[in-house]
Amino acid sequence: MRESWQERFAGTPAVLKSAQRSQTVVPVLDFGIGGDDFVTMAGPCSVESDFQLMVTALHVRRRGARVLRGGAFKPRSSPYSFQGLGIEGLKLLAAARRETGLAIVTEVMSERDVPLVAEYADILQIGSRSMENYSLLEAAARSGRPVLLKRGMVATVADFLQAAQVVLENGNSQVILCERGIRTFETSMRNTFDVATIALLKQISHLPVIADPSHAAGHRELVPALARVAVAAGADGLLVEVHPNPDKAWSDGEQSLDFAEFDEMMASLDPYLKLRSPGVGEPAGARMAEAWG
Ligand code: PEP
Ligand code: MN
Repeated sequence: MRESWQERFAGTPAVLKSAQRSQTVVPVLDFGIGGDDFVTMAGPCSVESDFQLMVTALHVRRRGARVLRGGAFKPRSSPYSFQGLGIEGLKLLAAARRETGLAIVTEVMSERDVPLVAEYADILQIGSRSMENYSLLEAAARSGRPVLLKRGMVATVADFLQAAQVVLENGNSQVILCERGIRTFETSMRNTFDVATIALLKQISHLPVIADPSHAAGHRELVPALARVAVAAGADGLLVEVHPNPDKAWSDGEQSLDFAEFDEMMASLDPYLKLRSPGVGEPAGARMAEAWG
């Protein structure tokens, strides 16, 4: 690793690559995140009903997803928006897991809810709005579940790594970093997808890095292109919003793919995934350059 990066991120030694740790592979059910497999996590923004969740789970599994996403506790920008089904949502996620064998990732917003969510989820998601809530991070770490840490919308890379360090320092090395777009002066899209950060994180950190093109774009038409770019930058997986009828979704319908769009996106990823480095942690770019001469 470049010495200046080593110095710049010296405050978060546990997350940096070292001679002892060049790549962490987070085990979930019978697969790993951060290893050779590219892991797609897909599902609705919010869990709405048994039917909505189950048809989505069955569909995304058929197209290769390994993890079902779905919010039961929703952090919303407006207090008047749908706040999630809570424990009912967790139960529906558990039923979908039983039915499909998919692992479950769902957000936990409060320290108080960690034991409950950890009972139902295979991976605890820490949302963008909670990235700097260190007491929540500590509680999530202590649950022993893998933690999917979303980058805060105004967090620098150093802030992001600091939050990851808090989880590691609390005895949990199963952290997955997720780039989901940041706030910039550009307002045409919901956020600005900071793809360079994916490439940077893959160079400096041993933790798996995934991308959320849905929240980054905010518009479903842009999601497949951002997903392809994420693969090319070396991401270990994707977190993507899929809904049976996005126009009727209770949250984030504008950025959710319908089933046909999800299939198309997955098919369009195939050539990029073929070029992806099988060598753990090796930047995909090098292999692509080699393949394309
Ligand atoms: C989500 O994944 O549904 C979500 C709320 O994301 P973020 O925390 O990145 O806004
Ligand atoms: Mn969402």
